[in-house]
Amino acid sequence: MHEATMAPRVSYFDYIIIGGGTAGCPLAATLSRNSSVLLLERGGSPFNNANITNITAFGAALMDTSSTSPSQLFISKDGVRNARGRVLGGGSSINAGFYSRASTAYVKESGWDEKLVNESYRWVEKAIVFKPVVGPWQSAMKAGLLEAGVCPDNGFVYDHLYGTKVGGTIFDKNGRRHSTANLLRYASYQRLMLYLHASVHKILFQINGKAKPMAHGVVFRDSLGMKHIAYLKEGSKNEIIVSAGSLGSPQLLMLSGLGPKDQLQSHGIDVVLAQPCIGKGMADNPKAAIFVPSPVPVEFSIVEVVGITHSGNFIEGRSGSNIVSGQYKNISLKSGGFIFEKIIGPLSKGHLELKSRNPNDNPLVTFNYFKEPVDLQRCVEGLTTILKAIKTKSFSNFRFHFLDTKDLLDITASLPQNHPVNSNTTSSLEQFCKDTVSTMWHYHGGCLVDEVVDRDYRVVGVDHLRVIDGSTFHTSPGTNPQATVMMLGRYMGVKILRERLLCEG
Ligand SMILES: Cc1cc2nc3c(=O)[nH]c(=O)nc-3n(C[C@H](O)[C@H](O)[C@H](O)COP(=O)(O)OP(=O)(O)OC[C@H]3O[C@@H](n4cnc5c(N)ncnc54)[C@H](O)[C@@H]3O)c2cc1C
Repeated sequence: MHEATMAPRVSYFDYIIIGGGTAGCPLAATLSRNSSVLLLERGGSPFNNANITNITAFGAALMDTSSTSPSQLFISKDGVRNARGRVLGGGSSINAGFYSRASTAYVKESGWDEKLVNESYRWVEKAIVFKPVVGPWQSAMKAGLLEAGVCPDNGFVYDHLYGTKVGGTIFDKNGRRHSTANLLRYASYQRLMLYLHASVHKILFQINGKAKPMAHGVVFRDSLGMKHIAYLKEGSKNEIIVSAGSLGSPQLLMLSGLGPKDQLQSHGIDVVLAQPCIGKGMADNPKAAIFVPSPVPVEFSIVEVVGITHSGNFIEGRSGSNIVSGQYKNISLKSGGFIFEKIIGPLSKGHLELKSRNPNDNPLVTFNYFKEPVDLQRCVEGLTTILKAIKTKSFSNFRFHFLDTKDLLDITASLPQNHPVNSNTTSSLEQFCKDTVSTMWHYHGGCLVDEVVDRDYRVVGVDHLRVIDGSTFHTSPGTNPQATVMMLGRYMGVKILRERLLCEG
């Protein structure tokens, strides 16, 4: 692990991976077992940063809006505040840590090899996933969900099963985060070169007459703005792999000349391949949350339990003191918790456009929350289940009995959260969903499978280039995506190495 200022002006590798995030790190660790790998990450190291490593600091990185923050703030055109990792480990270094696999139906639909999928999940789990210690508030929420009919009780399990369960976490029992940066200990140190603060500006292509454009190098800049070029070594199996996330991957392809022709030309970018699908199919699963003030102190917790309903709602919660502040009807909001839902899919889709030619600027993203009526209907169904769970006997110690549904919705609507509208009153659950929509940060799309990449994650229309990360997903996997993004990094690493070994005979 070196600062990019140490990189030579020109270097050569078998694989060049752009983005040391949730998919990029397991991919690099795996490929380096047999080949020379360059991993380029625009952010710094997550180690020794208490805002990242310590569970009780969750959210602190998100509040840091400086240009050196490990979390880059972006506000979608829908008006919702959102965040993207800008640090080794990517999203897994700043996220809430909950770990839950994709459903078996999702794995089948993706056309993945089920045996290798399970081996890859297990490889991740052995290294960085733990069983959470579930406290009284999370236990009451779990019992409340069961009493409200989100059954059966599936105990502690990583699998995606209808009912209520305790899932995994990447925080260990001492509250220490284990991001995908920790998976790099499985790399071959002789073969992996990792540069931090290495911002990739462009992928380089060789264009020879009628043959497909061939990716053969990348241009990156270090923290002092110095330019470096890394090329692929000679070899038919050598590749550049983009793992820069749902905003970074489509953005970088466009900056390199792949994408909607008119858009590229309007930014003065030479078109290598006109590909209208790049930047399309962007989606963010809407979050609807209800804050429940508690008459008794509650433990600090982030997501440990999830209720999975047949109507496509994933219900989770977080609790603590001072997660919100203020008063309502003479009660303090100091102690309590949010119970929130993410809806499956979603069906509503948006798009991404370049804002400038600078890869450090966020692109412009539109998610179109609730454009499809089914998403709104699901949101209302999920809220109805949450309200039922709040009113159960099991959850009764953690709510004020004189606060009715309207009080809870009004309290939540008035909180300065990340949603577009702040109001003190709520007229309907539909309106509440729309006014208070926020993000679970599970946005995906931009380089969709079967549109931008094929089922082996190769970019269609060019050679020696793949995209492997959350930008390839049509829908968000499981209740929470990180397990499957990590699995995909390992899974594709193994597949690519097998192809190489087969070719070398
Ligand atoms: C606050 C938050 C909470 C979340 N909570 C959970 C949770 O509890 N459970 C869960 O399962 N999921 C959670 N998620 C979602 C999950 O973390 C993401 O879906 C996942 O990390 C996405 O992985 P990725 O590999 O696609 O992208 P990333 O992990 O974002 O990786 C992309 C990497 O590429 C780098 N990069 C981008 N552009 C360039 C460039 N031009 N040059 C060099 N490097 C570049 C970035 O710095 C980043 O490190 C959360 C996300 C956030 C932000």
